[in-house]
Amino acid sequence: MAYYSENISKLIEQLGRLPGIGPKSAQRLAFYIINMPEDQVKELSGSIINAKEKVHYCRICGNLTDQELCPICADPNRNHRQIMVVENTRDLAAYEKTQKYTGVYHVLQGAISPMLGIGPEDIRLKELMQRLQGDVDEVIIATNSSLEGETTAMYISKLIKPTGIRTTRIASGVPVGGDLEYIDEVTLLRALEGRTEL
Ligand code: ZN
Repeated sequence: MAYYSENISKLIEQLGRLPGIGPKSAQRLAFYIINMPEDQVKELSGSIINAKEKVHYCRICGNLTDQELCPICADPNRNHRQIMVVENTRDLAAYEKTQKYTGVYHVLQGAISPMLGIGPEDIRLKELMQRLQGDVDEVIIATNSSLEGETTAMYISKLIKPTGIRTTRIASGVPVGGDLEYIDEVTLLRALEGRTEL
């Protein structure tokens, strides 16, 4: 990289840290940015800083929002007695795209993974149990069908059992190891409709 000036090298290095961006893509993006009009570059960097400063987690469900409550938790037309537990905001977005789910969510922000040293206390389980002290009819566990997702689902169902709240698991229409965000809407809906009691 010695043939680039330090500023260009640094930009390429920073872009290369983003997920899914290899060295070649980082280089291409860096040159693209350098050739962009200055006001567009300012707009881009401003959006990044703004999003980082203003976006935080919803007080109730853990979804990303720039308000105190996310639009789903703040919506009186949603069924607040039905809670779907997902691993992350991307999975929530996948279910929202189907436009068929009318309940609310709980975003764990991770999954239990003994291999990675992520335990039950590292994801938002305490917050979930607190929510269940209110009026809740059903908890739908929609963690991924990876080893971590299944471990998490099992752990949650055991936690909830004593409360007597109906607990269901989305059907295995979702391929094993499949990340919810990459699965088409029809499959997601089928998994939701075919959910089974735990
Ligand atoms: Zn929320």
